[in-house]
Amino acid sequence: MTESISIVGGGIGGLVTALSFDKLNIPYKLYERAVSLEVVGAGIWLSPNALQVLEWINPSLLQEIQNTGNTFNRIMVANHKLKPISDSKQDFVQEKFGYTTMAIHRGKLQQILYEYVQQENIILGKDFREYAENDEKPYELYFEDGSVVNTNSIIGADGINSKIRKQLFPNSKLRYSGQTCWRGVSNYNLDAQLESVGFTLWGKKLQFGVSKISEGKVYWFAVKLSAPNLTDDKKSIKSLLVTMFSEYDPLVTDLIKNTPNETIFRGDLSDLELLNKWNSGNICLIGDAAHSMTPDLGQGGAQAIEDAFYLSNFIKETNKLESAFNKFYAYRKTKVEKLVKQSRLTSKIAITNRFMEVIRNLVLKRTPESYMKKQMFELYKLDKTIVNNP
Ligand SMILES: Cc1cc2nc3c(=O)[nH]c(=O)nc-3n(C[C@H](O)[C@H](O)[C@H](O)COP(=O)(O)OP(=O)(O)OC[C@H]3O[C@@H](n4cnc5c(N)ncnc54)[C@H](O)[C@@H]3O)c2cc1C
Repeated sequence: MTESISIVGGGIGGLVTALSFDKLNIPYKLYERAVSLEVVGAGIWLSPNALQVLEWINPSLLQEIQNTGNTFNRIMVANHKLKPISDSKQDFVQEKFGYTTMAIHRGKLQQILYEYVQQENIILGKDFREYAENDEKPYELYFEDGSVVNTNSIIGADGINSKIRKQLFPNSKLRYSGQTCWRGVSNYNLDAQLESVGFTLWGKKLQFGVSKISEGKVYWFAVKLSAPNLTDDKKSIKSLLVTMFSEYDPLVTDLIKNTPNETIFRGDLSDLELLNKWNSGNICLIGDAAHSMTPDLGQGGAQAIEDAFYLSNFIKETNKLESAFNKFYAYRKTKVEKLVKQSRLTSKIAITNRFMEVIRNLVLKRTPESYMKKQMFELYKLDKTIVNNP
């Protein structure tokens, strides 16, 4: 009999953990601080490792997500004039996994995930403040509304600024990447040859990413070196971005110009200094709370989804949560740590000076296709041999 578990945080990682627990009949409650889950935010790319987990949970869930978003047949890195530096046709990924990377509106993804979770297990409007340890019921969760919940175990899925992590590992540190990022959703129709491509333009010490997320909607992100904690005047943000990308292919400025101001968000990019454990006692961190990475490989959300898959199956396998949490960290740390490091390195490679840019482009162009394929297979692989039947 599994002990009662409280998941704190109903973002991608928390919701997919809830869905995995539903599938495996593991009792839990999820506490999310938002009062309602609305369709806000920009886009997100979901790679086949994440899609395999969603399919394992429920093939109809995957189908709905795929129908709502847009699937890629190519992933491309181009220079600032949209000339390809590396262009990867995704047929081999399709053949191996049955699907390729896709893009979807982040708020819509969250809403679909939420709709598939057993609703009685989700409590919205619960802003977690702190926990206390207690001899009879191991933990008490304190919320900002004054309520207290007793629980045997806590899963911290409360994101990069996790309060659970700060209490559990007070020495944990976020590292600012030196880069800030604007994201938006443009009302725009890409040319047919770019509709199914996830692409990023690198050059001029800037980075601009683009993908269609649904009919007439294109998600973009713009990255620049910057001091942290700067804010923009919402009214002038578009003209600032248009000037910043004036030397880029006109598609970039067209996308910016066709974006409603209120859909443009700015956030500084940080990652979490690697932790040497994600759990203590019956508390365990997952997703960004445990291993936040810069978004350069588009893997933070996918890794939170993988966490949900492995953690739920390890919990199902044993009666002892602490040993499941230990196994989870031991199993996941190698892949996740590699991705944290690679993402950080990619952020530096993407935005560099002109001299390094020339070398970088040459190296990328000459990287053998077989090597790229091997890297993608490794990244997208999911170990289904650990699956427990409910
Ligand atoms: C610019 C950018 C682009 C990205 N692009 C991609 C991409 O294309 N693909 C990809 O896979 N990843 C991407 N990522 C990474 C991805 O967004 C994160 O890794 C992912 O959201 C992590 O999921 P999570 O559930 O751990 O955290 P979150 O999604 O941050 O969710 C945390 C949840 O906890 C809740 N919460 C926080 N504090 C409390 C509290 N005190 N009490 C209760 N609830 C609380 C929050 O409201 C939220 O719902 C990107 C990140 C950035 C910054």
